[in-house]
Amino acid sequence: MISIFFKALYIRFLTNSSVEIKWDIENTPEDIKQVSFVVYKSETPEAGYTPISPELTDLFTYRDAWTGYDDSKFKIIYYKVRAFIKSDPSKFVETKPDYVHENPEDDSQSPFVDPVVDAVRRANVLLSHERYRVGKPCIVYQKRTFGQRCKCFDPILQRVTKSKCEYCLGTGRIEGYHSGIEDVFINFVSLNKTKMIQFWGDTEPGETQAWTSNFPIVKPEDIIINKLTNEYYVIKRIRTSFHLIPIRQTILVRKLNFDDIKTSLPFDTKVFRM
Ligand SMILES: [Zn+2]
Repeated sequence: MISIFFKALYIRFLTNSSVEIKWDIENTPEDIKQVSFVVYKSETPEAGYTPISPELTDLFTYRDAWTGYDDSKFKIIYYKVRAFIKSDPSKFVETKPDYVHENPEDDSQSPFVDPVVDAVRRANVLLSHERYRVGKPCIVYQKRTFGQRCKCFDPILQRVTKSKCEYCLGTGRIEGYHSGIEDVFINFVSLNKTKMIQFWGDTEPGETQAWTSNFPIVKPEDIIINKLTNEYYVIKRIRTSFHLIPIRQTILVRKLNFDDIKTSLPFDTKVFRM
């Protein structure tokens, strides 16, 4: 048996040619590093599922992107997620399938044809295409919101009692962060103080503004590593613009000092892919 219980599966359009698949699990006694998740896709709910992701370890989100525009028009796309123990893939559990579809009756609600949603695709091109590349290739480490509490976490005070704890990196949960999400392009902006205050209200020294597209959706306290400069940032605040779906995340970040325990998050320069 495998003691993984899926809590929820979320599917949403990121652009007119990409979908985010996200899942939650209950707290588990399994060693999560020994569990693989694989995303499956089909055009029928019952059968025909093929794996579309690599084996994901300690990751709970995946982006399915395809090229072209009309390919999936009027289709329903089903997804499900499988979890299995790496040492024995024959023992697995799966989510129920969920789907995204275009409603051919109502173009106004369709992510496929919505011009504003197409703006996400254009923003992605602006951030990551080699011709423009206003974004810097980054890794995003998402802070754990579930999992085992660290010994340094005081359940009565509801906070960590040690800021430099090597087991939870100051998060209060063992291992602190999920596996890093690679190849997230982020534009770091240098704004003058007045502009910053206009947008954010009060800010602190060392804080700067950045923006990114809509994958992954970030939270305060997530960590960003700029792979070109080896700089670590912690996310302080976020403003997301929506139009049917999240479009763009403007974030206030603070650069971490090199002696911050969070800068021990692994960072591999060789993995940069385009
Ligand atoms: Zn700790």
